Amino acid sequence: MYVLALDLSADEARVRRAEIVRWLTDQGTLILNPRHVRPRDSGEFLAGPGAEARATDEWLSGGHEADVLCGRDVYSAMESFEPPPCPGCGSQLAVEDHLELLRVWERDGEPTVTCDACRGSAPLGDWESEYGAYVAELAVSFENWPGLKGEFVAELGSRLGGRWRTVMSRY
Ligand SMILES: [Zn+2]
Repeated sequence: MYVLALDLSADEARVRRAEIVRWLTDQGTLILNPRHVRPRDSGEFLAGPGAEARATDEWLSGGHEADVLCGRDVYSAMESFEPPPCPGCGSQLAVEDHLELLRVWERDGEPTVTCDACRGSAPLGDWESEYGAYVAELAVSFENWPGLKGEFVAELGSRLGGRWRTVMSRY
């Protein structure tokens, strides 16, 4: 799962990343992965001694990696991806339209999207979907983790700042 921030500039994201890493490691949710050597590899962090208290599901030890990713990118639910419903009427965006809008967002900034069904319009990041996709400058990635408690995710999101979203994936 990703928890990500939609409204940060690149400069803000770099500063915020350091604050988020400090918060997650100070509370023991994450520890530095001693086997992580190459900066571009995933798995910079592992679940720390405080991680189990953040989980809703049964905690199975081993293999829980995490990264705090900085730099503009598209974060999506990958093969679980579902285009989002209109925040006004619930009519779903077409997949091809959503993919094109994500390319526009990554290249030029967040587009405002008008719904074909109700003619309402909203920024693309306000078209929300649990298994969706967003462009973000900063994202926390939990790979192969059990479900995380809502209050933990909400605090992480508010610390990221601005509008924040989650993207789930099915394993
Ligand atoms: Zn609509």
